[in-house]
Amino acid sequence: MADPNAQHTPLMQQYLRIKSDYPDILLFFRMGDFYELFYDDARRAAKLLDITLTTRGQSAGQPIPMAGVPYHAVDGYLARLIRKGESIAICEQIGDPNESKGPVERKVVRIVTPGTVTEEALLDDRQDRLLAAIAPAKKGFGLAWLDVAGGRLRFAETANAQELGAELERLRPAEILFPEDFALPVSGLVAALRPSPPWHFDAQSGERELCRQLQVQDLSGFGIEQRGPGLAAAGALLNYARDMLAGELTHLTGVRALKSSEHLVLDASTRRHLEIDVHPDGRSEHTLVGLMDSAATPMGSRKLKRWITHPLRDHQRLAARHDAVEVLLEHHAHPALADQLSGIGDLERVLTRIALKTARPRDLATLREGLSRLPHLHEKLDRFTSPLLRELAETLIPQPELDDLLNAAIVEQPPMVIRDGGVIAEGFDAELDELRSLSRNAGDFLIRYEEQEKTRTGIPTLKVGYNRVHGYYIEVSRAQADKVPTEYSRRQTLKNAERYITEELKTFEDKVLSARERALAREKALYEQLVEDLAGRHRSLSTLASGLAALDVLVAFAERAETLNFSRPRLDDQPGLEIGDGRHPVVERVQDEAFVPNDCRLDPARRMLVITGPNMGGKSTYMRQAALIVILAHAGSYVPAGSARIGPIDRIFSRIGAGDDLTRGRSTFMVEMVETANILHNASEQSLVLMDEIGRGTSTFDGLALAWAVATELALNLRTLTLFATHYFELTRLAEDHAGIANVHLEAREHGERIVFLHSVGEGPASQSYGIQVARLAGVPKPVIAQARKHLNRLENDAARAASPQLGLFESVQAEPSSQPDALRELLAEVDPDELSPREALDYLYRLKTISKGTDD
Ligand code: ADP
Repeated sequence: MADPNAQHTPLMQQYLRIKSDYPDILLFFRMGDFYELFYDDARRAAKLLDITLTTRGQSAGQPIPMAGVPYHAVDGYLARLIRKGESIAICEQIGDPNESKGPVERKVVRIVTPGTVTEEALLDDRQDRLLAAIAPAKKGFGLAWLDVAGGRLRFAETANAQELGAELERLRPAEILFPEDFALPVSGLVAALRPSPPWHFDAQSGERELCRQLQVQDLSGFGIEQRGPGLAAAGALLNYARDMLAGELTHLTGVRALKSSEHLVLDASTRRHLEIDVHPDGRSEHTLVGLMDSAATPMGSRKLKRWITHPLRDHQRLAARHDAVEVLLEHHAHPALADQLSGIGDLERVLTRIALKTARPRDLATLREGLSRLPHLHEKLDRFTSPLLRELAETLIPQPELDDLLNAAIVEQPPMVIRDGGVIAEGFDAELDELRSLSRNAGDFLIRYEEQEKTRTGIPTLKVGYNRVHGYYIEVSRAQADKVPTEYSRRQTLKNAERYITEELKTFEDKVLSARERALAREKALYEQLVEDLAGRHRSLSTLASGLAALDVLVAFAERAETLNFSRPRLDDQPGLEIGDGRHPVVERVQDEAFVPNDCRLDPARRMLVITGPNMGGKSTYMRQAALIVILAHAGSYVPAGSARIGPIDRIFSRIGAGDDLTRGRSTFMVEMVETANILHNASEQSLVLMDEIGRGTSTFDGLALAWAVATELALNLRTLTLFATHYFELTRLAEDHAGIANVHLEAREHGERIVFLHSVGEGPASQSYGIQVARLAGVPKPVIAQARKHLNRLENDAARAASPQLGLFESVQAEPSSQPDALRELLAEVDPDELSPREALDYLYRLKTISKGTDD
C-alpha cells in the first residue's frame, strides 16, 4: 500500500510519523528556537494558551495550521497546560542539523503529565504532586500513589467507595489512572483522569514490576506479604510513570503498604469541616496546616503537611516527636536550627532530578549549599538527648569529599542551563581550562595582530573584527584599500569598506572556534559525569534529605509551640481524653477578641457531651478545637491547651448540619444523612465523633427524631466518644436517663437589652434559647424583633399542632385519664393542650414516658 503521508513534505512526514504515536496528547515539535504544534494540536493549543494560530507553507496541497512557543519560555506554557490537565509530548532535535540530509533526526524525549512532572518551574514547592492509580477488586479498591518528584511510592487497600473518596480527598492527586472498563465511584475530583487498559492493573505483574524496580526477589523486606489490589494499582502506576519519563525511576528505592490501623482516619467531610488544609475562603493561613507551617524548607513544609493530614496512631513514635520538640524548646535550639535550615533548599526534589539526570546547574549549587550546612547541624543535634534528634543527627553526617567535589566542580553562581557553558569551575579539569584559555586569549591575540598589521601596512584605521557569518576579518576603508598587501584576500565588500582574511587569521579562527566548541562539549561531558556520580549516591543523599525535612518539621513544631503557647500532650492507654484550657488555634489567631479556653473531658463514664447554647455561642468552635488538639498530638506536635491527656483514638468523624453546608449541590439533607449513616457504620469506642447541629436540614420533628435516634445510637450502642451540639433542647434530657451522657452549655448572659456570649463552657444544659436576642444583636430593627416575638408563640402553637404527632398523642393520653397512674393524672390535669407549644408537648410526653416506665417496673 502506498504511504498515505507520501504527498507531504519530508518534514511533515517526520512529524506525522511521530504524532501517530501520541494521537491524544499535544506534541511539542522542536524546530530551531521554537516548539511547534500542527493541525488539531495547533488549534487546541491556540485556545488553551491563547497563542496565535498561523499556518506554515503547504503540505499535501493544504496550508498547515501551526502554533508555536519559544523554547526558552516553554516552562511557563507547560505549567499552564498541566494545570488544565493536559499532557504534552516533548519532541527534540537529536541529530546534528549540519550533518543530516533531509529533516534533522527528532525523538520524543519525555512526556510531561500533570502527575509526573519534576521540573522546579512546574511544581508548587509547598505541595506534593501525586500520580495515583485505582484498581478495583471484588471487595473494595486498591489505591497507589507516587510522588515522582519526592521519590515516594505508597499503596493501600480501601474497603469501599467512601474510604477511597476520603483517601483521594486527602491526597488530592494531580492525575489518576484507572481501568477504562471501570466507572470511577468518586465524583468531584479535580485530577486529570486517565482511563488505561484494564490488563495494566494486575496484582501479579504489579508485584513483578515492583520487584524489578526495587531490585529484590520478593517484597517481604518491605513488609508486603499479600498480593492484593494495592499491588495491581502500584504496578500500573510504575509502568505509566516509566513511560512518561522515558526511563527508569532510579530514585525510587522503596515502597510502603499503608494500613488504615496505623493512622488516625479522617474522612473527606471531616477534613473539610475541620478546615485542616483547605478553608472555604481559600486562604491557607486560615487552616490548621497553614497555621502550623513555619517550616524553613519546601521539603519540610510538604512533610509537615503529610504529618498533619495523615496523623499516626503509634504512641511511641509520637512520644519520640514530642520528646524532640521538648528538647528543642528546653535548649531554645529551634531559632538557630531554623536559621541553618532556611539556607537549605529543596534537596528532595533536587536529588530526584539528579537521579533522573535532568538536574540543572543550580540544582547542584543548591545541593552544595545544603551540604555545607551539615557540619553545623550535625554538631548541634548530636548534643541532644532526644533519641529522635540523635537518630536524625545520624542521617546528617557531613560528607567533606562531596563538599570538596562540588566546590571544585561548580562555579560560585552557575547559570540556569548548561547549554552555554560557564558551569564547571576553573581548575577542575585541565583540558577544559586549556580550551577555555585558548578562546579567552583570542582577545589578546587580536589586539596584537591588529597592531602588527597596522604597522606593517601603514594603514592606521585598519581594524580586526568578527561576525557570525563571515568569521574573523580585517577591515580597511575603501579609500585605503589600494594599500593592502597582496596576501590579503577579499572576504566581503561593504559600502565604505573592504574586508579581508589572511592565512594567519584563518588559522587562528579555526583554532579559536574549535576550541570554543570543544570547551563546551568538554564541559557538558564533565557535567554529565558529575551528575552521574551524584546519582550513584542517591540513596544516602535521599536519607539525608528526608532527615533534614523531618528536622525542619520538628523545629517548626517547636517554634509554633513557643509562639502560639502550646503544651505537650500526653498519650496513654486510658480510653477517653481530658483537655484542660483547650483553644481553637486558628480562631484564636484570626480574631481580635481574646479567646476563652475551655476544658473538655470524655471517658467511658462520660462518653457523650450534649452541647447547647445560643447560636454564635461557640459550640462549633469548642467541638472542633477538641478534634484539632487530637490531630496535632497525633502529628507529633504540641497542642493549644494548658494540658491534654489523650487515650487511644482510631478515627475522627465530624459532621455538620446541612443548614450550614450550602456549598454542595446534592440535596444537603441527603448528604447529611449519608454521612451520618457512614459514621454509624464505621465508628468504634475509640472514635471521636463531632455532631454539629445534625437534623437541621429537615422539619423540626423529623430533625429532632433523627438527632435523638442518632445520639442514643452513638452513646448507647456504639459507645463512641461524642460531642453533640444541638439546638434541640429536648436532647438535654438524654443525660437524665443515661449514665454515659452529660450536658454542657456555652454560657451567655443577657445584659440589659443585649446578650453577651461568654464562650465559656459550663456543666449542665443551657437555660434559654437566644434566637431572637441574637437577631437583635445582629442589628435587626426593634419593631421587627417585637413582631418576631409575637409570631413566635403563635407559630409554634399553630403550626405544631397541625403537624405534631406529639400533640395528638398527648391529647389522646389526656383523653383517657382513668387508665393512667396517679402521678400522670396529676400531671395531665395541670396542662391545657391548646396552650402547649410542640416543644412543651414533647417535654410532657417525655415525662409521661418516664413515669409510665416507672410504674411498669
Ligand atoms: P456556634 O457553633 O455556637 O454557633 P461558633 O463556634 O461558630 O458558635 O462561634 C461563633 C464565634 O464565637 C466564633 O467565630 C468565634 O469568633 C467566637 N468564639 C467561639 N468560641 C470562642 C472562645 N472560646 N473564645 C472566644 N471567642 C470564641
